Amino acid sequence: MNIAIASGKGGTGKTTIATNLALILADMGNMVQLLDCDVEEPNCHIFMKPEIESSNPVTVSKPEIIKEKCTGCGICGEVCEYSAIVVVKGSVLTFPELCHGCGACKLFCPEEAIIEVPREVGIVETGTSNGVAFIQGLLNIGELMSPAVIGGVKKTANAADVIIYDSPPGTSCPVIEAVKDADFVLLATEPTPFGLNDLELAVGMVRALKIPFAVAINRCDIGNDDVKNYCDRENISVVLEIPDDRKIAEAYSRGEMIVHVLPEYRTLFESCWMRITNLYENESKK
Ligand code: SF4
Ligand code: SF4
Repeated sequence: MNIAIASGKGGTGKTTIATNLALILADMGNMVQLLDCDVEEPNCHIFMKPEIESSNPVTVSKPEIIKEKCTGCGICGEVCEYSAIVVVKGSVLTFPELCHGCGACKLFCPEEAIIEVPREVGIVETGTSNGVAFIQGLLNIGELMSPAVIGGVKKTANAADVIIYDSPPGTSCPVIEAVKDADFVLLATEPTPFGLNDLELAVGMVRALKIPFAVAINRCDIGNDDVKNYCDRENISVVLEIPDDRKIAEAYSRGEMIVHVLPEYRTLFESCWMRITNLYENESKK
């Protein structure tokens, strides 16, 4: 089972849920892989403290012009959807950081004056921690191509009983790349107006992708009941409620795992997993 932990906004406890769930599942005897797909700001490693065993570059293709063949016709600039290649007064200019590596410019160039060369946009690191296989992506500073690095992280995963994706926040391309092939999505939120607004956006996203999902409410005893009322109205299951406990905040600030230092919360994550598997099985039977 591949499960993505996602949220419409940052700061809702995604990483807390992903890392603690990974540890609980490993302790239950499962072969678990934790994939940190939040490649612009990966932070699972702060809590998992993995021993990194390998590091590999992620590359995308970028066009390179063979000047001797180019006639300056401008077709490459016309077909590029991302303004990554423009032709000015017969000269071709390329902007590699905008290039999505789609290959259209090369395909349509009538003179075969374009070749593709690799460009590094980030790295994928692998390691282990507490019996969990750990994979994280790191996007190079200033790069925009986070989906490529997220794809690199997911390609590095091997078969496992459970693969957990810690997704980037939001509902844009990087999130879609992270969650699109998940079997189940757990949407983390908080009981505030902002939390509700961004939860509604995230629910719209997973419904459009037709992926079964449930909600986790972090700091469930602050704010108001609007998130719960929304979930009731929309028939969405709330499978995890983490209280606003100062001890949790202190453990988080020290980079410690809740299930290690506050064992009283283990049952919270265990029952969350039971509810997810029940929901997933019910969805699979439909
Ligand atoms: S399409 Fe090919 S020949 Fe035309 S301007 Fe671009 S690189 Fe040059
Ligand atoms: S590969 Fe695609 S995105 Fe990149 S410059 Fe060519 S057409 Fe534009």
